[in-house]
Amino acid sequence: MVACAAALVPAAFVGWLLWRDTGGDRADRVTTPQAHASDAHEHGGKGEHVHGDVTDDKPTAPAEQPRPSTKAREGRLAGTVVVIDPGHNPGNFQHTAEINKLVDIGTNRKECDTTGTATADGYREAAFTRDVSQRLRTLLEKEGAEVAFTHDGDRAFGPCIDERARIGNDAKADAVISVHADGSAKGNRGFHVILPGPVKAGSADTSPIVAPSRDLGVRVADGFAAATGSARANYVGAGTGLDVRTDLGGLNLSTVPKVFVECGNMQDPQDAALLKNADWRQKAARGLADGLRAYLTARNN
Ligand code: ZN
Repeated sequence: MVACAAALVPAAFVGWLLWRDTGGDRADRVTTPQAHASDAHEHGGKGEHVHGDVTDDKPTAPAEQPRPSTKAREGRLAGTVVVIDPGHNPGNFQHTAEINKLVDIGTNRKECDTTGTATADGYREAAFTRDVSQRLRTLLEKEGAEVAFTHDGDRAFGPCIDERARIGNDAKADAVISVHADGSAKGNRGFHVILPGPVKAGSADTSPIVAPSRDLGVRVADGFAAATGSARANYVGAGTGLDVRTDLGGLNLSTVPKVFVECGNMQDPQDAALLKNADWRQKAARGLADGLRAYLTARNN
């Protein structure tokens, strides 16, 4: 396995050089090895690591990686880095001991991760979040963005919330979006975007990200509403579709602009029917992409 990889890497590199010399336009290949930096960390790291020093045997840990080079990409989002965080993990149900371990979120200690919710007929939030995240990635990459996931079917559970934050931080992401669906009471409907509130405690300091995250969240909410036709939540945020929280480790520990989106309420039959519909999920992804693009292009101008 090791010898195999060693033999393949130089060959692939030479192939890339040859291709570069021929003036090919698929320059996005240049960034492929670095795009997987976070994945490499996920494989090497143990979810319960709290302090986050990347001491694995590989010297290519993300904390030591330069920002991915996106110069050669084309499109409106060329040069931008987006980290998508699919909420929960389908494997969390089988790893309750691991995900119940506490991690430090600055203000306090909190469970590593949670199972997430599900519709009455068993469509799980973790399946929903991954599907929407993958659709979103496709849309953003088409426009030239560099996209990394916090996990993508490559680990049995998690990652823990502190590591989810760290992946965005290490990638020096221009924006991070954590994709969720809510588990509220029947009759509670609509979407909302969760923004980081002011937190300064322990290793958490959200002061640099509160304002840009709000800008990001407002644009994501506008894009989501326009693309899906969904109403802003009728049970949180007083009709704004925005909620500010200081109890989420994934936000508290972020050093880059980040929001959560709760796309709908899985416990409400009408919302659940939308969340289960693939065409609607594509609209949801498009709305998220529209919001991210609006934010990223405004920041770059
Ligand atoms: Zn969730």
